[in-house]
Parts: sequence; C-alpha cells; structure tokens
Amino acid sequence: MPSATPSRKRVVILGSTGSIGTSALKVAGDIPERMEVIGLAAHRSVDAIAAQVRETGVQHVCLSDEASAEQLAGLLGSDCNVVAGEDGLVELATLPQADMVLIAIVGTAGLRPALAALRAGKDIAVASKEILVMAGESVMATARECGRRVLPVDSEHNAIFQCLEGRDPAVVTRIILTASGGPFRTLPADQLAHVKLEQALKHPTWEMGRKITIDSATLFNKGLEMIEARWLFDVEMARVDVIVHPQSIVHSMVEFVDGSVLAQLSHSDMCFPIQYAVTWPERVSNSLEPLDFAKLAKLDFEAPRVDDFPALNLARRAGEEGGTLPAVLNAANEVAVDAFIHERIGFTGIWETVSAVMDAHTNIKHPTLDQILGADTEARERAGAMLASGSWRRGNLSLA
Ligand code: NDP
Repeated sequence: MPSATPSRKRVVILGSTGSIGTSALKVAGDIPERMEVIGLAAHRSVDAIAAQVRETGVQHVCLSDEASAEQLAGLLGSDCNVVAGEDGLVELATLPQADMVLIAIVGTAGLRPALAALRAGKDIAVASKEILVMAGESVMATARECGRRVLPVDSEHNAIFQCLEGRDPAVVTRIILTASGGPFRTLPADQLAHVKLEQALKHPTWEMGRKITIDSATLFNKGLEMIEARWLFDVEMARVDVIVHPQSIVHSMVEFVDGSVLAQLSHSDMCFPIQYAVTWPERVSNSLEPLDFAKLAKLDFEAPRVDDFPALNLARRAGEEGGTLPAVLNAANEVAVDAFIHERIGFTGIWETVSAVMDAHTNIKHPTLDQILGADTEARERAGAMLASGSWRRGNLSLA
C-alpha cells in the first residue's frame, strides 16, 4: 500500500550508483523526514551498491547483470533481497510499499520498469531523458491512463515544470531551454573534427556521467531535451527553443501569451531538481547553497551555433516527424557516442552517424511500443554496421 503520510515519500532509485543516483541519496540524507529510500538498482557496480545498501539499510536491491547480482548476494547475505536482470528492475519498480520510482538509468533500459511502475500505481521521477525521447507518447499516455504523475528531474524540464505549475499548454508561446554550450561553445568549426575524448569529457558547469557529458559537447543532449519537453509539456516542436547560457544558472524559461517570461534559477547542482521532484507540490528547506546575485554579477545569453552543431536540427527534425524517428536518433546517438568513447570515430562522426542512420530509416507514424523497440534495435544494428563499414560518412551533413 502507498504511504499513509504523503509528505514522506518512499522512493526506489534505479541507477543509484550513477551521478544522479548518488545525488538522490544525498537529497534523501538531507531531507530524511520527506524522502526514504527503500530500493536500489544498478547494472554491475557490485562494491558501490553494496556500500549504498549498508549505508541506507535498504532491503531490496537489483543488479541487472546476473553474474554481478550473484556476487552481490554473496556479499550481503540473507538480510537483503537481491534480484537480477530486467525482471529484477521491474520487481523493484513495482514494490508494493513504494510511492515513487526515480528512473536514473543511463540509456533506455529504464523504459520497461518505468511503464511497470506507472501501471502499479507509482509516480515516476524521470532523469533518463532517453526513455521520453524514445517513447514519450506511450509513457505520458500510460501515466494519464493510470492517473499517475511523471515528474521531470532533468534540470531544464524541472525548471519548466516549476514555471508552468500546471498551466494549460495553450497559454505557452515558447518553452526556452537553456544550454551551457558545452566545452566547445567557442571552438572554431574547423577544429571540431579534431577534438579529443578528454576535452569532450570536460564539461564547463556540470559534473555528470560520461554519456551525457559527451551529449552536452555535441549538443545532442539539448536535442534530446527538446523532444523530451515536447512530450512532458504537450507542446509541438515549433514552440520549443534553445538559447545558450554559459553560466548554467537559469535552468530554463517559459514565455506566455501575454509576453511575460518566467525562469527558474539556482546553482548547477542536480540535488535541486531531484528534491523538487520528490517533495512536489511542497517546497522544503535544505542545506543547498542559495544564489548570491552580487557574486554572480552577470548572466549571458547567445544563439546556439546550429550550423556547426547539427544535433539541434537533427533533433528538431526527429521531433517534428515523430513516429519511430526519435527512437532511431536516440539509439544511433548511443552507438555513436560509445564508438567515440572507444576512439573508433572522431567527434564530428557522432553527428554524421546519427544523420546517416536517420536517413536510412523508414519512419512509422503512431507506432506501438513494439514498433518503437523494433526501430531502436534496427537503428543500433544499422549504426553498428555503418561504423564497421565506414558508410556512416554518407550522413547528409555539411560539416566544416
Ligand atoms: P551515470 O553514467 O553516472 O550512471 C548510470 C547509472 O545507470 C549507473 O547507476 C549504472 O549502473 C546504471 N545502469 C546503466 N545501465 C544499466 C542497466 N542496463 N540496468 C540497470 N542500471 C543500469 O549516468 P548519469 O547519472 O549521469 O545519468 C543517468 C540518466 O540521467 C541519463 O539518462 C542522463 O541523461 C540523465 N541525466 C543526468 C544528469 C546528470 O547531471 N548526471 C542531468 C540530467 C539528466 P552501474 O554503475 O552498475 O553501471
């Protein structure tokens, strides 16, 4: 049964050993009267999750990698219920005593557990933007059918959520996502092909996992967020804009029909949006550092370099055409980022691969979940084959 005291949420964290998961545990430690962690899941980080289990005392834990789960069970003994695999993630996401499930698994492995959590009557807090890009329509429709909430954790979407406060999308003229611009914001276009992995991993304002850090450097992160916003807030792509804001203090803005713009500001620390997603609709004091405007001195804004960073136009196209194309963009990007991390392609090869895989796809409009999953698999295979044969270079892009 869900908690009798709505102000104290019992939360399961999927992806607990990652950057978001670790921040979520910090939030739980900061506001224990509002947030209790009752389940943890990750992929194969045995030692890290064992330490988290000992620290929090949770009794339900999952590692999706079966061999790692076996090793973890050996370490923790019979006091803790250790489950494994995708079914184990679903088991945690549907624990009868949970109020909310935080989906913070990198990539799309959180999709099935997210849908299962909604169907089991839980609210979900979503950091994993990939699942909303891939299947936002299905996730939001399932939430509506089940009368549950999808609370955005991504800082930009959490900011928009705070600015909207349930207002009708009809009064919104523009959702304005802010982007730090990443480490290559000012790098001349002809040097982008030569940037190294270590440079791409140095984000100027946020500390995050590797995949999202590379996505921030290509601006695919912002592209994915445009599609994420389209589904979370029920606005078409034409009303989703991006502005570069290098200080990452304004987390996003909403412009309304009367010309007023509301923004949400805070330091760049994911504990802010995680806490708001958990305590919503209440605001609760915490130990996070407030802004000192005299020290900030100035906030800059500039237009994104859409011609030099093609990710934004590719994402706009995928979001506008809809169907299975956003899942294809997302899957091809995951494969291409992995190839870049393993130094099989250069930085601009990420955009070229995604573009080539999108061009080769036959879009299915209004797809079923199975068709989306099929398009995801097909795009991964196609990207892999293109990377192996070198044909990704045919991507329909004109790069410097
Ligand atoms: P990390 O790479 O730091 O962590 C990923 C987490 O997912 C780890 O706990 C990892 O477990 C787990 N994981 C990976 N694959 C699986 C799987 N198949 N089954 C179960 N667990 C799995 O990522 P981040 O925390 O940076 O990002 C998580 C999500 O949040 C991403 O979708 C990202 O886009 C989004 N996000 C992140 C932000 C940030 O500031 N970091 C900001 C906004 C959104 P293990 O350790 O065992 O590998």
